[in-house]
Parts: sequence; C-alpha cells; structure tokens
Amino acid sequence: MNTTAEKLSSAELVQLEDKYGAHNYHPLEVVLARGEGVHVWDVEGKKYYDFLSAYSAVNQGHCHPKIVGAMIDQAKTLTLTSRAFYNDALGPYEKFVTEYFGFDKVLPMNTGAEAVETAIKLCRKWAYEKKGISENAAKIIVCSGNFHGRTTTIVSFSDDANAKDNFGPFTPGFIRIPYNDTAALEEALKQDNVAGFLVEPIQGEAGVFVPDEEYLAKAKSLCAAAGALFIADEVQTGIARTGSLLAVCGNCSCGNTCEKDPKSYVQPDILILGKAMSGGAYPVSAVLANDEIMMVIKPGQHGSTFGGNPIAAKVAIAALEVVRDERLAENAFRLGNIFRAEMNRIIANTDLVLKVRGKGLLNAIIVNDTEESETAWNLCVAMKNNGLLAKPTHGNIIRFAPPLVMTEDQLMECIAIIEKTITEFPK
Ligand SMILES: *Cc1c(COP(=O)(O)O)cnc(C)c1O
Repeated sequence: MNTTAEKLSSAELVQLEDKYGAHNYHPLEVVLARGEGVHVWDVEGKKYYDFLSAYSAVNQGHCHPKIVGAMIDQAKTLTLTSRAFYNDALGPYEKFVTEYFGFDKVLPMNTGAEAVETAIKLCRKWAYEKKGISENAAKIIVCSGNFHGRTTTIVSFSDDANAKDNFGPFTPGFIRIPYNDTAALEEALKQDNVAGFLVEPIQGEAGVFVPDEEYLAKAKSLCAAAGALFIADEVQTGIARTGSLLAVCGNCSCGNTCEKDPKSYVQPDILILGKAMSGGAYPVSAVLANDEIMMVIKPGQHGSTFGGNPIAAKVAIAALEVVRDERLAENAFRLGNIFRAEMNRIIANTDLVLKVRGKGLLNAIIVNDTEESETAWNLCVAMKNNGLLAKPTHGNIIRFAPPLVMTEDQLMECIAIIEKTITEFPK
C-alpha cells in the first residue's frame, strides 16, 4: 500500500479514521493539515480561524516559532532520561515554573487527567499524614457538571452519563455538590474526613459556567476554616485564557499571579495545570503546591516515565515566556470584552441565540433550541463553511475559544463570520 507518495483527500482521511480508529470522538468534518497563529488549513488548502484552540491548549497560537524552536533544539539534544537519572533541563524548569506561579514545588506530569489524578493522590496522602484522617476514609468534595478528565477514578465522580455509564465499578471517596453554591460547600465540609475540595474556577466542558464573583474566595476561606485543601483545576482556564494568568487571579490581567492586585488572588492549596502549558506543542501538565503538602510524597510513591522529560521542560518554559512576553492575559481580557459586547449586539437581532457568557476569551453562546437538537451542530457546520471552526460542548452550547495571540482586526473578522452565519441560518 502506498502511504507516502499520494496525497489523500479529506474524504479519504475521514474514512481511514472511521475504519481504523476507535469511535471515541465525533469530529466536525474538516481535516486539518497545517496551522499558524490563529489559523489552520485543511487538506484542500482552505483557511479557517480556529475558535477552539484544541480545547484551550493552543493559547499561544499554532506552531509558535519560539515554542517549536525550543522543542526542535531539545529534540536534537536529549529527549528522555526517565526520572531514574537527573537531567539538565528539569531543575531549571522547576525553578522557573514555581516562581512563575508562586508555589514552593511542582510535580511534572503529561496530561491533564494525570495531573488531576496526582492532585487527588496528593490530597489524600496529605489528609492521612498531616490532617490525621483514618486510613481509607478521606473524602474529596467535587461539583456537579464537573469535567476533570477520563480516567476511571475521575469518571467515578462525574455526573455525565456519557462519561460514566458502563465504566464501573467506581472509585469511592467523593461527595458531589452543586457548582457555585457556597452554602452546599459549607454543609459538605461539616462531614467527617473531608480532605479537600476540587473545583474548576469556570466550568469549561459543562458549557462555560462562570460562577459568582465571590465564589472562589468564599470557597477557599470555607476550606481553610475546615482544614480542607482548596484544589483548583485550571487545566482549561489557566495560562491567560480567561483574561488573567489564572482564573483564580480574579479580575487582574497583569499576567503575574499577584503583582498588581493581591487581594483578588485566591491562592489554591493545590493548582492543576495542563493544556496551554506547552502551547499545544507537547503533552505537559503540572501540579503545584507548597512544601507542607508536596513533601508528603516520597521517592517511589508516584511518578511517570515521561513526566518532567527534557523536551517538556524546555517547551513549557518557552510557552510560558510567550504568555508573559506577548501579554496574552491582557489581550484575552481586552478582546473578551469586545467579543461579548459584539455577541450581545448580534443576539439582540436574532432569535437563534439566547445568550453569551464567559470570561476573557473563554466564552459560549446558548443556542435557542433543546439540548437534544441538532441546531448548534448545524450552526458549527455552517460556520466551518464560512471559515471558522468551533464545536458544541453540550447540546445547544457552542464554546468560542480562539488562540490568545489574536489581533482586534482578526477578532472583528471572526465576529463578522459568526454574524453572517447566524443571519443566514435557515429558520
Ligand atoms: C481538558 C481538561 C482535563 C483533562 O486533560 P487531558 O489532557 O485531556 O487529560 C482536566 N480538567 C479540565 C478542567 C480540562 O478542561
């Protein structure tokens, strides 16, 4: 079979995935072959605005030259040592990333789900060894509508039937409460043996639910009063996406965790990062905590063959430098305000869309139809045909999350595409 010489069409490539790949995704019918900045191109050469950014992994834009350069240099030098030996990239990265986010220590992993698993293990171990919870009794509070990844433990505390059904038996030790409900949290924290509270500062997969202004600060102080760890999953919201370096930074867009407005910063006891840690170039995730928590993990108790590898270390430094040097948090903050204002203008003139919500450049529109309807999907197909790629999160909700390197002119062009698509959409 000829695998290299002939160029396959989009339709042929879709067929290959359909025939030989597991059907665990339902992609929009577009086959991408190249990316640069805010744009991607399909196999036939058609150009699109990427309004998903690989679920906010490509915040720094596709194939950012500084990030790709760091990756190529390191790939030619040393790729993997395992943690059986030291390597000359990991230490400098650990110093850089802990100073960048303001924690004593980092535990490097690869994917978001692995980092969430790491945080759960860390929280439990801390609870047994520092808080004195009796063996196997620790409980972690989570929120309904949560998305933290796909491992068996993580889907154990999901309430999404698709994520969960027929994957049991499930890991015990989780209490689920409503999101954005501090009274429910206060009540749950009264139970015995609560080790921590795991929360997304904005629920991304659930459909970009932004909690009340005071929610995170109140939740953190309730946790502190109860002696439970406040664990922030910023895999999607972190790294400038919501208009601040982290969503727990509140309304500060300085791109530094707490330089300008320390009062608005809600320091997590454990911070979970992934996705844009590498600008979409490589799987890099991280768990950050201070010594009194992180030091409960001793040699041999947790690890990963690829976690902390030299390529990941170099790529992550480059990706985080891009966020700071190109002031991506500020850009996301400014463009996000423009985006929602323009969407509200469009919504005022259509029955097709009910509402826009979000923060920074993590936004969603609610389509005026049922969750089971095809309308949001069909709108995404129509936007694709008009040159902009986005996808529904749940049923009637479409997430809009372009790369943060977007210019205002480009954003206005995207808004024009969205407006045209909505206006021309058959009723
Ligand atoms: C994407 C995501 C994860 C899982 O990350 P993977 O790299 O896909 O394992 C975890 N938490 C949140 C909030 C996410 O958005």
